[in-house]
Amino acid sequence: MALLSVNNIEVIYDDVILVLKGLSLEVEEGAIVALLGANGAGKTTTLKAISGLLKTEEGEVTDGAIVFDGQRINDLEPEKIVRRGVFQVMEGRRVFVDLTARENLIAAAHTQKCTRRQLDERIEQVYAYFPRLKERQNGLAGYLSGGEQQMLVIGRGMMARPRLMMLDEPSLGLSPLLVGEIFEIIARLNRELGTTILLVEQNARMALNIASHGYIMENGKIVLDDTTEKLKNNEDVKRFYLGVG
Ligand code: ATP
Repeated sequence: MALLSVNNIEVIYDDVILVLKGLSLEVEEGAIVALLGANGAGKTTTLKAISGLLKTEEGEVTDGAIVFDGQRINDLEPEKIVRRGVFQVMEGRRVFVDLTARENLIAAAHTQKCTRRQLDERIEQVYAYFPRLKERQNGLAGYLSGGEQQMLVIGRGMMARPRLMMLDEPSLGLSPLLVGEIFEIIARLNRELGTTILLVEQNARMALNIASHGYIMENGKIVLDDTTEKLKNNEDVKRFYLGVG
C-alpha cells in the first residue's frame, strides 16, 4: 500500500471555481516523487488539498479521497494532518521575519510534543544539514539571504519530523549553485532520514533527476505518469518541460 494515495479528488474554490477535476496520484513510502506542470495547472492546490491548508483559503475537496498511511485525512484540520506526519513546505520562503533563525525553527515544532532536549537535538540535526543556519542562528530571519531563507523553510519542515515532506518550488529564485545545493539536501533527507518526498517544481530537469517517479499535470488532471527514466525520454516531456527535441 502506498504511503499517500490521492483518489480522484475534485477541488473547488469559493464554491464555484473547479480547479482539480478528478486527480489521482500515489506516493510510495521512501520515494521521491515529482509533480510537474505549467503555471496554473493546479500543483499548489494539490499540495494544499493534501496538507489541509485549502480550508484556510476558501477551497474545498468536494469529491474523492486522500488517504495517508491507510487513513482518510480529507476532513482533518491542518494541524492534525501535520501530527500524522505530513508537512508542506510552502512556496516563497515564508519565515517569521521578526524572529531569529533559531526561533523560527523552535516555532515550527509547536505541533509536536517534544521535550527541551528533543527540541535541541532536532535543531542540531537541522544545523548538520545546513551549517550556514547555525552560523546565522541569532540573526533575524528577515535579514537572511534568499537562499538562507529557503534553507530555513526546509529546516522548519524538518523540525516537524514528517514522514512525508511536500515541497512547493524549492528552487524558485535561487542561483544555479544554490539550486544544486538545495536539491542535494532534499536527496539526503530522503536517503539518510527516510523522509518520503513529494516535490512540485518548475525546474523539471532537476526534479526528474532526483525523483524516481513523476506526474505531469495539466488543467486540474494528471495527463502522464511514469518512472522518471521513461519521462526523461518522452518526446512531449522533452519538448515542453526540458526544452529539448
Ligand atoms: P503555479 O505554478 O503558478 O503556482 P499551480 O500549478 O501551482 O501554478 P495553482 O496555484 O494550484 O496552480 O492554481 C490553479 C488554479 O486555481 C489557478 O487557475 C488559480 O487561479 C486558481 N486558484 C488558486 N488559488 C486560488 C484561491 N485561493 N481562490 C481561487 N482560485 C484559486
